[in-house]
Amino acid sequence: MGSTPPFSKPFNVAIVGGGITGLILAVSLLQHDIPFTVYESAAQFGEIGAGVGFGPNAVKTMDLISPKVKAAYNHCRTDKGVGKDSDSVWFHARVGDKRKVTAEGGSGDDTFAYKGEKGFRIGDHLSVVRYSGLSQIGPVGGVHRAHYLDQLVKLLPPSVARFGKRLVNITEAVDASGDAVLHFADGTTAQHTAVLACDGVKSPSRRLLLGPDYDPVFSGKCAYRGLVPMEQAREIIGDEKAMSSQIYFGYHGHLLTFPIEQGRTMNGMSSLAYIHYSTLPVMRKYPVYLLTNEIQW
Ligand SMILES: Cc1cc2nc3c(=O)[nH]c(=O)nc-3n(C[C@H](O)[C@H](O)[C@H](O)COP(=O)(O)OP(=O)(O)OC[C@H]3O[C@@H](n4cnc5c(N)ncnc54)[C@H](O)[C@@H]3O)c2cc1C
Repeated sequence: MGSTPPFSKPFNVAIVGGGITGLILAVSLLQHDIPFTVYESAAQFGEIGAGVGFGPNAVKTMDLISPKVKAAYNHCRTDKGVGKDSDSVWFHARVGDKRKVTAEGGSGDDTFAYKGEKGFRIGDHLSVVRYSGLSQIGPVGGVHRAHYLDQLVKLLPPSVARFGKRLVNITEAVDASGDAVLHFADGTTAQHTAVLACDGVKSPSRRLLLGPDYDPVFSGKCAYRGLVPMEQAREIIGDEKAMSSQIYFGYHGHLLTFPIEQGRTMNGMSSLAYIHYSTLPVMRKYPVYLLTNEIQW
């Protein structure tokens, strides 16, 4: 990280949360000479997790925010997959559920028919989903979340961040300035002209601003993720499947894999319906979406 920026504006905003969103916002404010401080509850910036795949819209947005943000992404991005036209492929769709193959609709011999063609098995290719107009947008692909965050941190001076600051409340300043006062779990406070909430899906800021009605709702799905050294992945499933993006469709769940870390690692994420949809409040709100998206294959 560099040195303290020479901010010249008569106001100062607070960014709550130093994840990918908070840090990209910070880079943007810095280049527009807008004074800010990032309050992060953790002891340091750090991203747990595995791979994140960015599509063309996200990469274009990075460039619009700041070429430095896109350069940080390009630094970690996995170049391209393996196979014909691999750089324009978003995902190869494949068979991913044995039940489809046999008991439910299959022929009983581990194969089934798809679009009039017989003999499909687990892992077989169904279709390919491509990015369109990629040449105008530029490279897309997966990154390791921690590595991308590290690159973003390098774009910011250390003086803009305060660690160990868990926001617990926001009140209005009593000095008639109209400022917000942030209250932290360690008993300290900070006064700012405005508060920009980037504190993630469980955001306490959202709750403070909008109330508990706007808390996130569990969709009934959960995800397991893992990283496999690419050499091992290639040995097990072969070069083409390991080194380009795959989605294996199953009943009430799917499995995604794509290369990250310049192809040194295969990122895997399986998403499963955790509880029966009919028991969920969200089902009453969005029944059609969930039915078409998940319950049918
Ligand atoms: C398995 C998995 C796979 C994913 N894959 C993709 C993908 O392929 N493509 C994609 O676009 N997205 C993907 N996502 C989603 C993406 O990772 C998140 O949307 C993104 O990381 C959210 O960033 P954020 O900065 O908004 O929030 P977070 O990363 O959650 O950061 C919030 C920050 O706020 C801090 N904080 C929280 N509470 C407080 C508080 N009270 N006070 C101060 N600080 C606080 C936290 O410590 C944290 O640093 C995936 C997510 C998961 C779980």
